[in-house]
Amino acid sequence: MDAMIEELYQEIILDHYRSPRHRGRCPHCGRTAHRDNPLCGDEITLGLELSEGTIARVVFEGQGCSISQASASMMAEAVDGLGVERALELAASVRRLMHGEPPEEDLGDLMALSGVARFPVRVKCALLPWTALVEALS
Ligand code: ZN
Repeated sequence: MDAMIEELYQEIILDHYRSPRHRGRCPHCGRTAHRDNPLCGDEITLGLELSEGTIARVVFEGQGCSISQASASMMAEAVDGLGVERALELAASVRRLMHGEPPEEDLGDLMALSGVARFPVRVKCALLPWTALVEALS
């Protein structure tokens, strides 16, 4: 990977880790999911509110490594306002990206996660919030 792109990706991940978007509790959210990754000590609790098939609210709480928490923040930002089917498609695209496949669509800032694909032990960290998303939407 190009060194400048790699640096940019690092910046995006650090920014989301330091200033997470959509962080908070949602005790009344209709859809929730909790996932953990004991290998790394990562935990994500996700809350979603749907309105007419669209994600009207998405919040998460969690702890763990920078990759898992940044990925949760990026996921929440990316799926906020999306239709359920579109959000599931995006989750599938990110899963493919994490397995080293080139994306079929422009994933925007989510491309920053692509560098993680080279570190199999961290792929679980990056996918944790996306797995929680799929569970909450199912
Ligand atoms: Zn982790």
